[in-house]
This record gives sequence, C-alpha cells and structure tokens, in this order.
Amino acid sequence: MRITAVHTHLLYHRLDQPFQSSFSQFDARFHCLVEIVTDSGLTGWGECLGPATANAAMVQAMAPLLIGGSPLEIERHWLTLYNQFRDQGQRGVTMTALSGLDIALWDLTGKHFNAPVHVLMGGAHRTRIPVYATGGFRPVGRNRIEATVAEMTAAVQAGFRACKIKIGFGIADDLATIAAVREAIGPEVTLAIDANHGYDAIDAIALGRRAERYDLAWFEEPVVPEALEAYARIRRSQPIPVAGGETWHSRWGFAQALQAGAVDILQPDVCGLGGLSEFRRVLTLADVHPVRVVPHVWGTAVAIAAALHAHAILPPAPPAHEARSPHLEFDRTPNPFRQAIVATPLEPVDGILTVPDGPGLGIEINREALAAYAPETF
Ligand SMILES: [Mg+2]
Repeated sequence: MRITAVHTHLLYHRLDQPFQSSFSQFDARFHCLVEIVTDSGLTGWGECLGPATANAAMVQAMAPLLIGGSPLEIERHWLTLYNQFRDQGQRGVTMTALSGLDIALWDLTGKHFNAPVHVLMGGAHRTRIPVYATGGFRPVGRNRIEATVAEMTAAVQAGFRACKIKIGFGIADDLATIAAVREAIGPEVTLAIDANHGYDAIDAIALGRRAERYDLAWFEEPVVPEALEAYARIRRSQPIPVAGGETWHSRWGFAQALQAGAVDILQPDVCGLGGLSEFRRVLTLADVHPVRVVPHVWGTAVAIAAALHAHAILPPAPPAHEARSPHLEFDRTPNPFRQAIVATPLEPVDGILTVPDGPGLGIEINREALAAYAPETF
C-alpha cells in the first residue's frame, strides 16, 4: 500500500449570529480536513486545528514527502516531516498541519489492519466518555448574561452534567455572568471558565479569588500561552485549578509548560499538538509530572472521532476500582457541517459519547456534505 495523493478539504459556513471570545470574533465556521489516498483504495482522514487556509497550504507543502511512502510507517513519516520543517516550524501551523496528516495515517493504518485506532494505540481504558458542553461565547448584539444562561440551561436539559463558559470580558461582567449561570444550572452541574488568555496575571488572580464561591472546576487559559511564569504565579495565588494547553505544541512545548508548573489540568488537542502520535508522548509527560488531562476539542466529527480514540487511551489516573474519566470537550456552538460530514453523527446521549469501534477512526465521510460546505473561493 502506497500513498498516491494528499487532498485538503476546506469547509465554510457564514454564521447568522456572530460570537466573540475575549479577543476574537467568529463570523463563520471554517475548518480544514486532510485526506490521504492510497493505491489500495483505502483513504485516511484527519483534521487540523486552527486557520483553515494556512493549514491547507502547509499540508500541501508537506505532501510531497509522503507520496510514494507506506502509510503504515507513521513514526518515520512524523519525524521526516518534523525534521524537514523544524527550523521554522516547531509550533503553530506546521504542527497543526502535521497533526491532520498524522491522524489520517492512523486512520489508514486502522483500516488496513481492520482495527480501531484506540486498539492500535494500546487499548481503551474506557469506551463511554462523559463530555462537557462548551459555549457561552459573547453573542454580538445580544445580552451576554441572558444568552449564556439560556445556552447553559439548554445544555443541562439536553443531558450534559458539565459545561464551560467564556470569560475575559472584564472582571465585573465576567463575575456577573458566572454568578447567573451557576444560579441557573444549580450546584450539582460542573462549571468551568475559559478566558482565552484575556487577562494579565494581576486581573486573573483577582478574578480567581472572587470567583471561588461559584465552585468552578477550572480556570482555563487565564493569560497568554507563552507566559508560563505567570501561569505558575496564578496557580499559587488564587484557589481555582488552572488549565491550559490548546495552543501548546509537541512534546517540547508541553515539557516546558509542565516543568514550569504552569497548570493543574493539561488540555492537549490531538488536531493541534502533533496528532495522535505526539498526543501519546504528551500523555507520558503528563504522567510523569503529574497533571490531570482533559483534552481540548474544536472541530468537525473528524476531530471529535480522533479525540475520542485519544481519550480512550488516557491512563486511569489514579488507578482505582471505580472507573473515572475526565470529561471530553464537546462544542455546542453553531456549526452545520460538524456532524453533516459523517454518515453517523457523533452526538452525545445523556452527556455520554461512545468511542467508535469501526476500523481506523471508525467514521465514514459524507462527500456530498463536503461539497455542500466547500467555500466558493480559496
Ligand atoms: Mg479554551
């Protein structure tokens, strides 16, 4: 089996209701899928986190190094690509592109051996995974508190037992929103906050101290991801567990953060940090240091499937009689192609997602949906 082509598929949908995180505005959903084609008739699928057109360009820049090779030699391909692009590519789009390619190679290898990816990676410690609802962005032109309360109330009614809202819009406004959401969902539902690095250390510490009363599971990305010393200071200076990792890349990036004592909770994204191969290596680092791993997910059903296989192999930490699982992130914000691009949607039932057990990622791509959501330009 030889690789004959590498394709990228851009997916685009303009949103009726734009929404904001602390520093950016989402006017559209725009994602990049990777397809690796072989002479055996098998194809593999992956997805890249981050800017779609930049990812597509970088995937195509890497593709010539894969053409003609065996998709089963995943580790050799990973190192070839990383070594060739290392000098200017130790993080960022190089790594997100490599992630999509690596996931597609794992999908192909699973299909070749007729085995799910999580089996090839050593076996699942869990196949039913609790998910938390991600949302609570600030909708443009609407009342933030009302919108966030309505959204999280709906998530709880849909069966989610954990949810996460966006903050980073100013301490007073954030505290009022957190208070309203906690009041609405009650004391039993897990609630986390995500600042998308919208604070500096002084304000993050102030917010964390004042928000303690709302029983928050974690405080995500309080400050910019480069500021590892500030992360550590925030951990020491306020009571809420600090989380981060969605913008850290490769074993080296994660090692730096862990050695700095930056987080209580690590949030690697399999479509961003370097694919399933690098995810497994980062799990070893997380075991050594040690921190809790709660994976980050932001993408289509391809990303969700890859994350489910990755989540399945998280080591039980600590080993215990009662099965425990961290929650997997489940984005509930509008995205019409998120599930449309697969034959069988990966939707949670009562807050639980089941790990696909078919070969490879265990998903079947709906090419009509790919065509329907392909952007007219680019
Ligand atoms: Mg986040």
